[in-house]
Amino acid sequence: MKTIAVLNQKGGAGKTTIATHLATALQHSGHSVLLVDSDPQGSARDWAAVREEHPVSVVGIDRPTIERDLKSLAPVDFVIIDGAPQASDLAVSAIKAADFVLIPVQPSPYDIWATAELVDLVKQRIEITDGKLKASFVVSRAITGSNIGKEVSATLEEYGLPVLNTKISQRVDYPGTAARGSTVIEDLPRSEGTREMLELSAEIESIM
Ligand code: ADP
Ligand code: MG
Repeated sequence: MKTIAVLNQKGGAGKTTIATHLATALQHSGHSVLLVDSDPQGSARDWAAVREEHPVSVVGIDRPTIERDLKSLAPVDFVIIDGAPQASDLAVSAIKAADFVLIPVQPSPYDIWATAELVDLVKQRIEITDGKLKASFVVSRAITGSNIGKEVSATLEEYGLPVLNTKISQRVDYPGTAARGSTVIEDLPRSEGTREMLELSAEIESIM
């Protein structure tokens, strides 16, 4: 079982969008997947509840016992943890449960600065686990056609964690498909959104 935690204390960073797409992408490539909604707001649970029977299994664990609670659930190939908008005991619990921490960050200095606390927590855990825990930033909600990507990646690298090659763009298709409890992967298989989300999933799998 491999656990990917999508974390950033900032709301609106794209955690739930990325977590729901990663879960769907991994399931489409034949893996068994569980999406853990650790946000007390329950966005991933709301997403799944739009459809009577959702193809992705979603459970809510919004207490700082994620690591322990996962052990009592049926094992799957991949657990995706959709993070809560706080760098609290909940985030610590998600980091402890994780093999890979993915930090989506919008290409803005305010958003980059706001990750400092989380990055410290992640680095501490990387040290404790002798590097078994892996972590990366992914640029999220990048405006297509803009050229801030490179600058942002350089700034993020100063935080001492790698930045994935894949970038997730700002696209109306993401909220559009989420409103139907779906993803671009299911509804718009030939779209640019699907291409980048499948690329993200493949890049993470290649690192883990
Ligand atoms: P978080 O879980 O980090 O709070 P969400 O994924 O819920 O972030 O995104 C917040 C809002 O922004 C949602 O309405 C979502 O649909 C929208 N959003 C997130 N990522 C994108 C994107 N790449 N393109 C367009 N809208 C996005
Ligand atoms: Mg969310």
